[in-house]
Amino acid sequence: MNQKVIVCDLDGTLAPSKASLEKSMADVLCKVLEKHKLAVISGGAYKQFQKQFLTHLECDGEKLQNLYLFPTNGSGCYIFDKEKNDWISLYEENLTEEERKEIFSAFEKAIKESDVDVSDPYGILIEDRGGQVTFSGRGQEAPLDVKQKWDPDQEKRKKIVEILKREIPEFEVRIGGATSVDVTGKGITKAYAIRKIEELLKIGKEDIVFLGDALFPGGNDSSAKETGVECISVSGPEEAEKILLSYVV
Ligand SMILES: [Mg+2]
Repeated sequence: MNQKVIVCDLDGTLAPSKASLEKSMADVLCKVLEKHKLAVISGGAYKQFQKQFLTHLECDGEKLQNLYLFPTNGSGCYIFDKEKNDWISLYEENLTEEERKEIFSAFEKAIKESDVDVSDPYGILIEDRGGQVTFSGRGQEAPLDVKQKWDPDQEKRKKIVEILKREIPEFEVRIGGATSVDVTGKGITKAYAIRKIEELLKIGKEDIVFLGDALFPGGNDSSAKETGVECISVSGPEEAEKILLSYVV
């Protein structure tokens, strides 16, 4: 294999949506980190990475130094500091107070106007994630089976997205995860994170391979293709695990 850096989407690729990393995947990732630099991109915030990903990864600090975490589509980056034995923020590009207010009111308007049912959510509906504001149709804490039933054909979210695009065209609006709509600054997509990786690691696109479950047109990984890196589409963590293993044998 000539690709040095492996870049993966998190939800639906390395782990089921917002669910914990499986033990078998965690083992494979440790093996990958022995030989490769690995970057993981998610629409989720860093605290979601901690809960869903880092607590289940049992690698030594040496290997963790090869891991780069990109929460909220690369508007932040975290790396492991071996000395401190902890994760540190390399940069954070947060939305301004003004911008967040504008996005929140656009969401409220879109919910009202679309008439989408958001009653009895599990946890909060609209979350401020610093560099991103995220709406989750059944709430941030909804169990996976509840989420999967809410908007399988994306029809509810398409309505919301349409209104948001009209209301706040100066932001990036997209469907993400199982029930969510993400809003970030213009141009903050997976492609943005991939370009950040190239910059940070001083590598070219030919040194990167990207794995994602939503590379189809309109999917939240599709922007990765704009960067010209090799993109591999996976159906879920099981297939991703097999592909990742092929990089370590
Ligand atoms: Mg995904």
